[in-house]
Amino acid sequence: MLLEVKDIHVHYGKIEAIKGISVEVNEGEIVTLIGANGAGKTTTLKTISGLRPLTSGSVIFDGQDISKMPGHKRVEAGLGQAPEGRGIFPGMTVHDNLLMGAYARSGDVSAELTQAYELFPRLAERRTQFAGTMSGGEQQMLAIGRALMAKPKVLLLDEPSMGLAPLLVKQIFEIIEEINRRGTTVLLVEQNAQQALQLAHRAYVLETGSIVKSADASALLDDPAVRAAYLGGD
Ligand code: ATP
Repeated sequence: MLLEVKDIHVHYGKIEAIKGISVEVNEGEIVTLIGANGAGKTTTLKTISGLRPLTSGSVIFDGQDISKMPGHKRVEAGLGQAPEGRGIFPGMTVHDNLLMGAYARSGDVSAELTQAYELFPRLAERRTQFAGTMSGGEQQMLAIGRALMAKPKVLLLDEPSMGLAPLLVKQIFEIIEEINRRGTTVLLVEQNAQQALQLAHRAYVLETGSIVKSADASALLDDPAVRAAYLGGD
């Protein structure tokens, strides 16, 4: 197992936002966390990436307990992150944003640059444009491309479809699939449950800080309760 979240509890002040969540991600998988607004998906991801401290429980990555490791060390260890709201550097060019993604690496990064531009031809066309002037979809592509520059073992994606037009959502999901095919394990948080379940191998359903269901993604697509609650029901 590449990533194991074991019974984590996370608080915002006195409020317990995560009430004992366990998630397992095997090498090569795409795993998704789905659930309504406020269910705790983003908080779970932030706890894995080191942006939120946990109250109890642990996060094991690649055989190592990283529960107390600072976020930047986790990136160096191979946890790639493309945060919600993109987090790109608006005053820098597309190209420099990509290079920033490789800050923790020494040596030649040209293979990763080539791959980022291959996966996202739009970024190649706009390599000298300031990132802040790019469209929402382009910024999302840049955030993912930048995360890949660190050659992560696992890519953590927070709502990559947020705010994007349907055609772009489809494109982004196809690219995530391609990234996975090329060997990167993916943990994806999504509001767009339908698309996420179509893409993922396995999924966890979160409700108010707990996991209420976990199964193969295809089984959840056929699950009447999941359909009714998250897939616009029928
Ligand atoms: P969304 O899809 O709306 O982002 P989510 O499933 O990602 O939802 P979280 O953002 O993880 O949910 O929020 C989980 C709970 O923690 C919610 O009740 C939310 O109000 C609360 N919460 C999140 N961030 C903070 C914060 N900075 N301070 C206080 N409470 C917070």
